[in-house]
Amino acid sequence: MELIVQGNLRADAAFMNNDAYHCDNDNILGCADRFRTLKDDSYRESNHITGLIKLGMALHIAQDFYSHSNWAENYPMVSILAPIEHPWIFLSMKEIQTGYFNLLPIVEHTEEAGDCFDADAGLHGNYTFATHACLNKDASDSHRSMKVVLPGIPISYHDWAADLAKEHTTQILVEQYNAKHPLILSCLTPKVLSFSCGSQAYDFVRPN
Ligand SMILES: [Zn+2]
Repeated sequence: MELIVQGNLRADAAFMNNDAYHCDNDNILGCADRFRTLKDDSYRESNHITGLIKLGMALHIAQDFYSHSNWAENYPMVSILAPIEHPWIFLSMKEIQTGYFNLLPIVEHTEEAGDCFDADAGLHGNYTFATHACLNKDASDSHRSMKVVLPGIPISYHDWAADLAKEHTTQILVEQYNAKHPLILSCLTPKVLSFSCGSQAYDFVRPN
């Protein structure tokens, strides 16, 4: 479990400027492709350290998607998870976007980029020059984080994006367990027989 977490954290440290690792710069297809590659590589990897780190990096991508995109705004309080495993579906979802970190395409369009910040009524809309600063829900005080999802209900977009990310993370781990991911299974064998990932991993995939 610790290695999966380390892999997750390493994605921010080691691949800070690679937008596919964080679903930045509206590179949703690139991040879905990277997600799939990391997950498949992790399944086939014989070295348990490398394999679990890759799984952690794949989870990081799934989590960053909710934090960096406007998915939460488009699915307010409906637990619909993003088709990260079937990225071609995104081609017909023109409203879904992530913000630009790399400002090169933006610098000529600072006025249009401001439209995203002004979009109080149309949070679900697509803004061609939306920046990361406008869309992200990374921190509880980010621009869109503080807005509540539905009037009268004290759930912010930061909370809602986090809920979706947690649900998707659980789904991926359970699916990998059901697919008999060799490293997850060896995590779950008794400590004397394996390197063991500790009992938390077992509790996580079998919550009941
Ligand atoms: Zn990230």
